Amino acid sequence: MSTIGQASAAGAEWREEVQRLTGQIAPDVVQWRRDFHAHPELSNREERTARVVAEQLRAMGVDDVRTDVARHGVVALIRGRRPGRTVALRADMDALPIEEETGLPFASQNARVMHACGHDAHTAILLGAAKVLVAMREHIPGSVKLLFQPAEEGPPAGEEGGAKLMIQEGALENPPVAAIFGLHINPELESGKVSYRFGGMMAAVDRIRIVVTGKQSHGGMPWQGVDPVVASAHIITALQAIPARHIDARQPVVISIGVVRAEGAWNIIPDQVELLGTVRTLDPEIRRQVAEQFHRTVRQTAAAHGTKAEIAYGDYGPVLLNDATLGAQAVKTLQRAIGSENVGETRPLMGGEDFAHYALKTPGFFFFLGVRNEQIGAVHALHTPQMVLDEAALPLGVRAMAMLALDYLAHNQASE
Ligand SMILES: [Zn+2]
Repeated sequence: MSTIGQASAAGAEWREEVQRLTGQIAPDVVQWRRDFHAHPELSNREERTARVVAEQLRAMGVDDVRTDVARHGVVALIRGRRPGRTVALRADMDALPIEEETGLPFASQNARVMHACGHDAHTAILLGAAKVLVAMREHIPGSVKLLFQPAEEGPPAGEEGGAKLMIQEGALENPPVAAIFGLHINPELESGKVSYRFGGMMAAVDRIRIVVTGKQSHGGMPWQGVDPVVASAHIITALQAIPARHIDARQPVVISIGVVRAEGAWNIIPDQVELLGTVRTLDPEIRRQVAEQFHRTVRQTAAAHGTKAEIAYGDYGPVLLNDATLGAQAVKTLQRAIGSENVGETRPLMGGEDFAHYALKTPGFFFFLGVRNEQIGAVHALHTPQMVLDEAALPLGVRAMAMLALDYLAHNQASE
């Protein structure tokens, strides 16, 4: 192993060293992942997970381990022995309110809580990368900050949490972070492969609540009241005209209403209807246009029926934008680390990812790690009770994360 002479990237010897170390610690990574999987915790309740993470980081000799960031977050620092920038690697730690149905020997021991989004794997992979990087500390030009983040799935009602709170509580400061990398497992992508997209990779998520108010009446005499049910039906339909008639057809927009609540009776028209739903977009300007047209459509459709509509249009998370310059460099790193035939572009996802908050503050690059393997039944979608992943992909995730950090620091050391 040598220090790096070229400005381009950490050399082949570094890659070999990372690969060797990753091979050595692969059993640890699988063991960590199974332990987290058996003990899943909901958003903002990741007490045990955070405790295990902090213990392991201290045991492997990470320089600085800060706990209780954004409730149960852990922020740790590996200081390289040579000067340079600070790069961050992020993993999320929370699980979902789902009853597991995988039948795995290490299945969830907590009723109605399951790691169905793979955050157990993300946390184990980042611990693995930490162990590799600690072993290579003498040669690292700069520092690597590790962000173990709670509540990616969204904090419980009335609580704050997730990436936003991590940033508020200084996760990107002291030392300031120059770039950040993150990954998500993907059961649609073959194990052994990774994929990425420049620009909008995961959707901006807006959370919608509409309350339509009219005047209660007898179901047989609607003219004596003002019917919010018929008004709501028109609103729901009219909203679908926004993507179809108002927004550039080449830009993806999804508007979904998932809750329609009217507490009348078969012969009573209620005075209120509540609608809950979500808007997804992949471009900040389109997001703004949709919001504007949404308000106009709801208000004026409600008014046409003599009702009033109150709208709560909640910003749940921005579009995840991969930085083009950082991304171009990162893709080269991934190609060298795991072979260019295993690195491909992907279509955007209309799901949200709160990594987007970091990527607004500092150049960020997020990618998918394939975990699909039909032979072991690893084919089910994220957020389903049958979701399993191919653990053979975990060392690949470790290698990718460690190499992204090393290559970034090596690349940016020469230019300073
Ligand atoms: Zn997730």
